[in-house]
Amino acid sequence: MTEAAIVHTAPPANLLGMTRAQMAEFMVSLGEKPFRAQQIMKWIHHRGVSNFDDMTDIGKALRERLKSVAEIRPPQVISQHDSKDGTRKWAIGVGGGNVVETVLIPDGDRATLCVSSQVGCSLDCSFCSTGKQGFQRDLSAAEIIGQVWLAIQSYDGFPSHSKRVVTNVVMMGMGEPLLNFDNVVAATGLMMDDLGYGISKRRVTLSTSGVVPALYKLAEVSQVSLAISLHAPNDSLRSELVPVNRRYPISELLEACNHYIAAQPDTHRVVTVEYTLIAGVNDQREHAIELAKLLKDFPCKINLIPFNPFSLSDYQRPSKNAVNRFWQVLTDAGFVTTVRTTRGDDIDAACGQLAGQVVDRTRRSARHLSRSENIQPIKLVNN
Ligand code: SF4
Repeated sequence: MTEAAIVHTAPPANLLGMTRAQMAEFMVSLGEKPFRAQQIMKWIHHRGVSNFDDMTDIGKALRERLKSVAEIRPPQVISQHDSKDGTRKWAIGVGGGNVVETVLIPDGDRATLCVSSQVGCSLDCSFCSTGKQGFQRDLSAAEIIGQVWLAIQSYDGFPSHSKRVVTNVVMMGMGEPLLNFDNVVAATGLMMDDLGYGISKRRVTLSTSGVVPALYKLAEVSQVSLAISLHAPNDSLRSELVPVNRRYPISELLEACNHYIAAQPDTHRVVTVEYTLIAGVNDQREHAIELAKLLKDFPCKINLIPFNPFSLSDYQRPSKNAVNRFWQVLTDAGFVTTVRTTRGDDIDAACGQLAGQVVDRTRRSARHLSRSENIQPIKLVNN
C-alpha cells in the first residue's frame, strides 16, 4: 500500500462525557450554532437516547454528519446483580479484561449511586479490596457519567429522569477521584448541570483519601460536596492504613479541606469524615477520644463504617459493642455521627468490597501515584 493510500481517521468522539462547553465547542467545529449542544445534551442525559436517528428535532443532514464523526457510547454492562436488600451492582467492561463496578443503594425516597473513577487504584489502602489489585488506567469522563446514565436506564428512568432513579451520587467506588482530576471534574459537573442530571451540589459527593494539592485545585473549579477517608486519629496509624498520608499528613489534609469549604459560594458546608472501624486496629475508646480532639474545630460530620471483610484481608469487623462505644464517645463530644449500615454484602457490593477485575501487568501503580506530585499547590492568598 502506498503512503497516499493510508487514510488516518480520528476515532468518533463520545458525546456522552462532554460538558456543556465542550459540546458547544464541538458543534461549532462542525459549523453548527452552539445552541445545538443544548438540544443534543437533553437527548442524551434527559431522554437517554444513544442513537442520533432518534433526535427528531435535529435535521437529517446534521444527524448524518454526527453519525460519521461522533457516537454516544454508554458503558458496556457485563453483569448485573440484585441484593436481597434492593442494592443493585453492575460490572462494567472497560477493555483489556478490566472490569469496574457501580452500585445503587436505594433507601426510602433516596437512592445513592456509588461511582468508580479509575480501573483499580494506586493508593493501596490496607483495608480496601480495590487497592489490592493495583492500577490499570483512569476512566474517561464518558465512562464515569455513563455509570449514572446506565443506572437510570436500568430502571427505565428516562425520559427526563422523571422517576429520580438516582438522587445522590458518591464518588466512592473504585479509584481515587482526585488522581483522575479532569475527567472527574467534567463528570461531576455534568451530574450537577441542568442539561445533565441536575443533581444538587449537596448531593454529589467526592470522596478523597487526601491528595492535598489536588484539593486546592478542586476549590477553584468545583462545588461538589467533600468527603475524606480519614480512618485514623493520628499520623502514625493513618500512614499504616492510608499510605498517601506519608506524603500528605492529617494536618495538611484538614487545612486543604478548610480552604475548600471557605472557597465555596454557599455557607454552612461541612466535610464528611469517613472512618472505617477495624477490630483491634482503630476502634478503641482512646482512638475515639483522640479523633474527637483532632476534629474539635473542624466543620464535619462523621460517618463510621464497620469494616466489611474480604478474602485478601486479615482485618476483622468490629463488634457491635465496639461500634456503639465509638459512636457514643463522638456523639457525647457533640459530633453528628452516623453508622453506615452494610448494604448489598450478599453481592459483594458493600463499602470496601468493590473489586472489579484489574489487570495490572506494568507497574502502572507506582507511576500513576507519582503523578500526584505534579499537581502544583495553588498559593493561598490569605495565608
Ligand atoms: S480506599 Fe479508595 S483510595 Fe484507598 S485504595 Fe481503595 S479505592 Fe484507592
